[in-house]
Formats: sequence, structure tokens, C-alpha cells
Amino acid sequence: MPLRTLDSLQDAVGSLAGKRVIVRVDFNVPLKDGVITDDGRVRAALPTLNQLINQGARVIACSHLGRPGGAPDPKYSLAPVAQRLSELLGKPVAFALDTVGESAHEAAAGLGDGDIAVLENLRFDPDETAKDDAARRGFAARLAELADAMVSDGFGVVHRKQASVYDLAQLLPSAAGQLIEKEVDVLDRLTENPERPYTVVLGGSKVSDKLGVISHLLPRVDRLCIGGGMMFTFLKAQGHGVGKSLLEEDQLDTVRGYIAEAAERGVELVLPVDAVMASAFSADADHVIAAASGLEDTPFGADGLGLDIGPETARLFADAIGGSRTVFWNGPMGVFELAPFAAGTKAVAGALTEVDGLSVVGGGDSAAAVRQLGFRDAQFGHISTGGGASLEFLEGKKLPGLEVLGWQ
Ligand code: ADP
Ligand code: MG
Repeated sequence: MPLRTLDSLQDAVGSLAGKRVIVRVDFNVPLKDGVITDDGRVRAALPTLNQLINQGARVIACSHLGRPGGAPDPKYSLAPVAQRLSELLGKPVAFALDTVGESAHEAAAGLGDGDIAVLENLRFDPDETAKDDAARRGFAARLAELADAMVSDGFGVVHRKQASVYDLAQLLPSAAGQLIEKEVDVLDRLTENPERPYTVVLGGSKVSDKLGVISHLLPRVDRLCIGGGMMFTFLKAQGHGVGKSLLEEDQLDTVRGYIAEAAERGVELVLPVDAVMASAFSADADHVIAAASGLEDTPFGADGLGLDIGPETARLFADAIGGSRTVFWNGPMGVFELAPFAAGTKAVAGALTEVDGLSVVGGGDSAAAVRQLGFRDAQFGHISTGGGASLEFLEGKKLPGLEVLGWQ
């Protein structure tokens, strides 16, 4: 079944002019000392918000930010995001100091047609993410009191069974916004008959999360390149010492299984042949390039930390990507935030921009990395705003936040 889209919402509730529409967006932006360092997710919400504003709806945007742990914490306030949104929309944005309390009701009541308000961080309430269905649904019901209809457009959270994502969409007439529609369209093209060769490049630091993805991807892809933090579990599984690099000791057998399965299936598993080893996790640490077989044969010995793929590996990955018609990349190849360890990520991003076919970048940090390294969004086929969500989609898992919008 296809997603219910904004047009279908009008069929359900009539013209949106004058209607209060609560929009679940993903404003989970990176913040440093209260300043937004990458506003990509705010920009990604603009098409839907503008469409609703232009139709004269009274828009109430809500989101989480970070992991405040179920209680108000000024560090995770959405106030700076509301401010940024106002600049991007070129119009005032009201800000509610709570989510379902007095301030939220006041803000909603104060909206004229085409006005917009932002609620405070949804995760200031523990029930937003409660495992208990009744608690979660209770919070969703209080959010539902603020509005006549709901639009879901936070792609980054559709894999979560949370009050504002899953329950709220069932309590009000609801539909997917433009961002979710576009994300699902692209990811569906990667799942159903991708043009071949199809290459997936994985990296990043959420190693245990992402190792599981590999078993689902092996039957679907032609090539799999492994960099970032998870490469060291593969190198260790091949018998190499990895010093103090990220390592999931208890996953070594699983990883050996993947190496064997890739060979059986004829999937080209491209593993690093070199890495950048450093004396410490810092931008001014000493660092050298070492072959995969000699990661501990550096001046740092067994204390060395692997913080990027090496140049030879970057070339291998770029070649694998370059010869592909479909490429999905999730997870930086190294600690790109520190200049000496950004080269691998930059090489992979550059190779994606040259792909003759569909190139997709998925993941919050990966998206931030390509922008920070000076690439433009338009150089890629698609930049997904959701890391976990896009991976689970590609794995073929059912995503609760999409199922409630009609997607099957
Ligand atoms: P995404 O958000 O794109 O899904 P992750 O959250 O999994 O990606 O990982 C991003 C982080 O991975 C970055 O902050 C980067 O510094 C880190 N990273 C990449 N390679 C390594 C490595 N070799 N050691 C430690 N951290 C790494
Ligand atoms: Mg991340």
C-alpha cells in the first residue's frame, strides 16, 4: 500500500485553511554551545511546512532534540531551532515552553491562518519514548488535543514506536509530508530492483548497530566496502592486531561468518588494506599510515588508535563506487571531525559525486560530514536525513512510523 500523502489529508478533512495541523518533524540538529552547527534537518522540513503555511493551515511543529532523558534540560531546548526556522521561513515562529501544557495550548490558540509555532522538546516528557503502550498513548492523546490533523515528516524517527511518531498518527487524520514521501521513494528504489552493480559502503561508530545490517544486505548487494570504526572488527577477524582501535570482541565470530557468506554469495567484500594510526584521539596527535597487517608495527605499538582508512583503501573504495550504478553510503570512514582523519571520508564522498546512476548518503553524521567537507547537496542523488531509519528500511524491516501512514 502506498503512503497517504498531503493530498489525501485534504480528502479526509477538507481544505486545510484554518485547520490546526501538528507536524512531527526531525529537528534533531547538532548543537555546540547552543549554536546549530548543521541546519540540514531544519531545511529538510521546509517544503512541507511551507506547503501547509501556503494553504493557510495553523501549523504546530514538534520534534525531539538529543537525549534529555525524559525531563526538561535547557541544554536540549528547541528554542535555537525555532529561531533558525524563523530566519529560514522569513516569518515569525511562536515558541511554546512546553509540549502539552499551558504554553503549548496558548501558542496553538494564538495562531492565525498560515502561522506557525514550535513546541518544546518532546523528549522532555518521558512518555514520548515510553515502552508502556498506555503511557505513550496518553501523551499522544494530549498532543492530539492541540490539532485537527497530523502530518508526519520526521524521517529520522520513523523506525521508532514513539508517541509523536506512531500513536499520534493513529489518533488524528494523518499523512506523510514531502520529506518522508521523497525518502521512501528513493529508498524503495534501492530495495526493489536496484540498477547493478549495487555497492553499499558502511562506516561510522555505531558498530554493534550496524554489524547486524550486513547480514540483511549481503543477499542484496554486489559489493560491500567496510570502513569507519567497524573495519577493525573485520581486520581482527582476519587475524590482524588493531591496537586500541574500536573493536567489538564479541562479534568476531559473526564477522567471520559474514566474510564466509560474502564469498559464498559472490559478493565482493572490500576490506581496508591500510589505516591511519594515531597516538591519541585528537587533532594534534602523531599519526602514520600503516598496512592492515602492521597496524601495531608503528611508533605507537599496541597503543595506536585507527582513526581513518588509509589512502590505498580510499582508492579501492573509490574504484568500487566508481564502477557502480547504485551506491548507498552510511557512516564516515574515519573521525572526519578532526582534519588529519578526514581524508578517507572525503575520498568516498568525492567518489559518490561521480557516480553515473543513483548515489545516496544516509545518516546524520555522514550528511553533516559531506557538508563540512565542502560538498553540495546537489552533487548527490539523495541525502537521507535518517541514518537508523534508512538502514532499517534497506534491511527490509517494517518501520512503525511508516506503517501508520499506510506504507506496507
Ligand atoms: P551516521 O550518523 O552517519 O549513521 P555514526 O553515528 O555511526 O554515523 O558514526 C559517526 C561517527 O563515527 C563520527 O563522529 C566519526 O568520528 C566516527 N568514526 C568514524 N570512524 C571512526 C573510527 N575509526 N574510530 C572512532 N570513531 C570513528
Ligand atoms: Mg550518528
